[in-house]
Amino acid sequence: MRVGIYCGSKIGKNPIYAEKAEELGTFLARHEMDIVYGGSNQGLMGKIADAALANNGDVIGVMPSFLQWKEVTHEHITNLHHVTTMYERKAKMIELADLLIALPGGAGTMDEFFDVVTLSQIGQHQKPIYLYNVNDYYRLLQLQLQHMVDEGFMQQEHLDNIYIIQKPEELLGMIQKKNGI
Ligand code: AMP
Repeated sequence: MRVGIYCGSKIGKNPIYAEKAEELGTFLARHEMDIVYGGSNQGLMGKIADAALANNGDVIGVMPSFLQWKEVTHEHITNLHHVTTMYERKAKMIELADLLIALPGGAGTMDEFFDVVTLSQIGQHQKPIYLYNVNDYYRLLQLQLQHMVDEGFMQQEHLDNIYIIQKPEELLGMIQKKNGI
């Protein structure tokens, strides 16, 4: 099973973000989950990939060629898909992954997160979407999403399709269901 991960190309100010990214990478590798991510060795992306690789996990990157100078490509990942545009990267990551998780990140992470949410809303994929609320980073986003529902701009059922998790173990139920356990 493959887990698509969106997260910051920076590590953030609080060391807890890197710690939790490494913990997630380790957790997924130990549960034999492959990682699909942006392919960079920078920021939280690099932390997750390094942790998974150190625990014999498979890590698949999807990197747009024009971005390689900025997001230094991770040289030790298992497989790297080259794409041309950001749109292709987003589509390829969704295609390759069985479920999608956003960790803390900036505007790029939010773009990717809302891309999977909006495509799910209009029935373009049925993959589970998770928001990993490390350090309560997504407290304000959760409030905003609820506000969208309260003000009639989003359906409650679409909000219910976004699972907010506080620790990696909360992924296990979905992983076991997908594996038919
Ligand atoms: P950030 O959260 O801003 O650090 O970005 C996280 C990831 O999102 C990085 O790999 C960025 O290259 C990527 N990203 C930034 N802008 C976009 C975009 N418009 N579409 C898709 N991915 C993006």
